Order: sequence, then C-alpha cells, then structure tokens
Amino acid sequence: MNKIYQVAIIGGGASGLLSAVELLSGNNALSGEEVVILERNDRVGKKLVATGNGQGNLTNEQISRENYHGNKGFITAFFPLLNEIDIRKYLEKLGIFTFVQEDGKIFPISLQANSVLDNLRYFLDAKKCQLQTNFYVDIVEKKDDCFLIYSENKVVKAKYVVCAFGGSAGKQYGTDGSSYRLLENFGHKLTNLSPALVQIKAELKEYKGLKGVKEKAKVYALDGEQVLSNVEGDLLFTEYGLSGSSIFKLVGLQNAKNPKVRVELLPWLSLEELLNIIKTRKELKIFPNEDLLLGIVNKQLGRIICKKYFREEDIAFAVKNLEFKVTGNLGFNYAQVTKGGIDTNNVNPFTMQSKLVKNLYLTGELLDVDGDCGGFNLTFAFVSGILSARSIKEKKGE
Ligand SMILES: Cc1cc2nc3c(=O)[nH]c(=O)nc-3n(C[C@H](O)[C@H](O)[C@H](O)COP(=O)(O)OP(=O)(O)OC[C@H]3O[C@@H](n4cnc5c(N)ncnc54)[C@H](O)[C@@H]3O)c2cc1C
Repeated sequence: MNKIYQVAIIGGGASGLLSAVELLSGNNALSGEEVVILERNDRVGKKLVATGNGQGNLTNEQISRENYHGNKGFITAFFPLLNEIDIRKYLEKLGIFTFVQEDGKIFPISLQANSVLDNLRYFLDAKKCQLQTNFYVDIVEKKDDCFLIYSENKVVKAKYVVCAFGGSAGKQYGTDGSSYRLLENFGHKLTNLSPALVQIKAELKEYKGLKGVKEKAKVYALDGEQVLSNVEGDLLFTEYGLSGSSIFKLVGLQNAKNPKVRVELLPWLSLEELLNIIKTRKELKIFPNEDLLLGIVNKQLGRIICKKYFREEDIAFAVKNLEFKVTGNLGFNYAQVTKGGIDTNNVNPFTMQSKLVKNLYLTGELLDVDGDCGGFNLTFAFVSGILSARSIKEKKGE
C-alpha cells in the first residue's frame, strides 16, 4: 500500500517551490515527509534559473493592479494579498537578499537566478521535503478524500494537490501547455491562449544586420497610421525583428490589420534640437557623411541611416521615425509568459483553491493572469504559491 502524502505539488517551478517552502514554515508547518514535489524535468526550477537573462528579476518595487491582465474581478480581489505579502522580506527570511535597480526591478544581490534556486533547494532539503523528478503527471483522479496522481506506471497519493505546472510559454523549461488538461478533466475551463512578452517579427530590411544593438527609445504600435499604444524603454534589434522591454509592453499589435512599429530614438530630444546637433556636426567638417550620427546613436545604426539619407533634415526625421512592418511574433517557444490560462472564475482568489474540487489548488502561470515585464510574473507565481500553502495549513490546523 502506497504512502499517502498530505500535499503533492505538481510542478517544481517558482510557484510550486514557494508553496512547498510555505507549507514547511511557520505556524502549523508540515513536516518534509508529508510534502512531495512532482517535477517532469530531471531537476526543479529550470525556468527560474533562466529568468531576467539569468539574473532573476524576482519582483518590482512598484506593483499595481494595472500590471496584471486577465479576469479583472479576480485580480482586484487577489491584489491586496499580493501587496500584503512583501516578497522581498519573505525571500530575505530564507536567506535570499535583493536590491532595487533604478527602474524599480528587484534582483538577487548576486545577480544570479541560479543562486536563488540553490537557496530554495537548500531550504527544502534541510526540511526534508520529498521530491520526485522525471515524474510527468499525466492523470490526476480523486477517490473519496484522496487524490491519485499517475505518471506512467507510478502513482502518488495525497490529500491535497497544488497544481503549479505553469503555462505554455518556453517548452524547453517543461511548460508546453500539455498539462492544462489535468484541470480540464475536473471541469475547469481554459481561456484563449497567446504568447506574451515575446519578440516581434518585423521586416527589418536594411536594418537587418543590427542583431544585438540596444537603444533607449520610444516605440509606437501602429495599425496603419493609427497609434495604438506607445512605450518608452529598452529596444533590442534581433535577427528576426525587435525585442526589449519597450516591445514587450506595447499593446494592440496582435489584432491590428496593418501592424507596424515606429521607433523614436533619442526621445528626450525634440526633432529641432536633434537637427541643430546634426547641423553643428556637419559644420565642423571633420566627419565623413556616413558618421554624422557618430556619438548620437549606435554607430552601426547611425551609418545605415546616413547611407540612406543625405539631407540633415531627413537624417533627423529618420532617427525619430524608423518604421518596421510587423509580420508576427516568435510564438510560445520564445515567449516569457502565457496570456490566458485556466479560467479564474472557478478559483478562490484568496486561497487559490478550486471552487469545483475540494482540496485542489491552482497557482502561478497556469491561471489566466499574466503580468507585465519587470518581475511581476514571478511575484504572482510566488505569492499564489504561498497563499495555497497558507490555506492548506489553516485547514489542517482546524
Ligand atoms: C526566458 C524567461 C525569462 C523570464 N524572466 C522573468 C523575469 O525576469 N521576471 C519575472 O517575473 N518573470 C520572468 N519570466 C516568467 C516567469 O518565469 C514565469 O511566469 C514563472 O516561472 C511561472 O511560475 P510557475 O511556477 O507558475 O511555472 P514554471 O516556473 O513554468 O514551473 C512549472 C513547472 O511545472 C513542471 N511541469 C509542467 N507540467 C508538468 C507535469 N504534467 N508533471 C510534472 N511537472 C510538470 C515544469 O517542468 C516546470 O518546472 C520569464 C520567463 C522566461 C521563459
């Protein structure tokens, strides 16, 4: 006869790990032998290690409701709890110290996401938390008061289940969207899914060779000539198009008939100021024409513009109005998060418990909640994981 765990957590990502940490901490803490994490990969936290370009943008100094998208009712109800659990202080108690960047993004002081994972692993090991890797959950059933969780010829039994198996973004990290059906089998509905925080594919034409060039810019999403949104921030030229925090924040392109991105370089200078600078430099008569923009914008980018345009007015205008036709995005494999997910109408926003199945919890990216770029998605994953654990501990303590 198989052992019956108190809690089985499906998915050892950001949310599942924090759920486990909270279950094994504080009042009514469970013992490690009562909690098992089931992870399909050969190790936990593969995606966590890749976050923030390996530096781990864990959270943000300024978090507002507007940073989250999905069912507004759920987000509004959940938001006070998200604010109440100060994730920075929470991590500090585990030995993970962080700092705030100028733009409000919060990183571990090591600037290494893998150190955060190591720290969590040390904590869970010290508490003797059980872990089964290479365990791809393909069926979950409930019989009487017990969940049966199957993977090929193995079965794990538990009284409570926390589903923390992530979404559809980044299948190389174990999240290919194949696990939603575990919840659909219990009657939970899935909303429409699309990739978010993802690179744009664009016709770069003469700007194609700029892969890796990064600029601060104001970018505009356009449908034909109509401006849909605009954002100031980092812009990165890639092999296939455009990326960077500014591109991630643009809205409206997906439904546009004639989607384009306009890039305004040097947004802190007016067109007139820029023109004066270019004219002054031309009058110096020391620069070849192709280097008129040297020291003003990226050298390679400046050369492309100066080869294309000759008059100073046209050069200045081009710097402020680079336009690229958008042909799509790089899709789920390259997206950082999933827009859409399990419908939150059937999830309690205070506890993350299913309203359809008692003792079943849903946390993190699998839910129809997605955050902006800047640490908001990890924050949601962490906090929803913690809330699920608090609810389970309370119920157990009753
Ligand atoms: C490249 C990249 C960079 C990112 N950078 C940031 C950042 O800097 N800041 C930020 O806030 N967000 C960032 N994100 C988003 C953030 O990482 C995710 O939103 C967050 O990890 C979601 O946490 P989660 O626990 O819900 O899911 P995940 O972290 O995706 O974990 C889910 C886990 O479940 C496992 N799993 C799936 N199905 C099963 C199954 N059937 N059985 C067993 N195990 C299963 C998976 O293998 C995975 O380990 C980034 C994402 C990517 C891809």
